[in-house]
Amino acid sequence: MQTETHESARDVLDGLEPQGSSEGDLSVAATHLERASRDIEETVGKTNALNLRLPEGVAGQARLGATGSDSFDARSLEGEEGVVDVEMAKGLAAHEQFHTEQSEPDAEEVTLGTGEKIMAHDFIEAGAIAAQEKVAPGSIRKLSLGYQALYAKVCRFGSKNRVEELSRKGELRRFASEITAQAA
Ligand SMILES: [Zn+2]
Repeated sequence: MQTETHESARDVLDGLEPQGSSEGDLSVAATHLERASRDIEETVGKTNALNLRLPEGVAGQARLGATGSDSFDARSLEGEEGVVDVEMAKGLAAHEQFHTEQSEPDAEEVTLGTGEKIMAHDFIEAGAIAAQEKVAPGSIRKLSLGYQALYAKVCRFGSKNRVEELSRKGELRRFASEITAQAA
């Protein structure tokens, strides 16, 4: 999953630096960190995902159909209000979890009656984004523009539920034939 880079809650962590910290500052920071650990536990912590350092703009990744292959980069989960962006963490967990349960598409690409093509990569990602949106609608806005565009494109051809369902099963050919049948 690719995301736009965003501002983080550095100010909370800066509160831990020694200069002029009063007990009050520290207890505020401690409260934030306690909440952060709970937030992590209740989102990405529920999966067996690894926390890895991923390339810039990549929040998480997983191999198709490979249980336990999902990973995320905690740097992408920094929130603006709390330490952890809970919406983002929930969305990321749902997205990568979806990939681990997903079958490889049955075609590299399909061409619709209109001549438009749908690439396997876009079909794979659109399904994961649909699953992500159900769980954490707000996290969609933080996807990279490329991902937002491919999602909008694939969902123009079918309902989000259908995109999710067929993408999970890797049925790109069937998706294309349903679109063609509807257009006829
Ligand atoms: Zn993805």
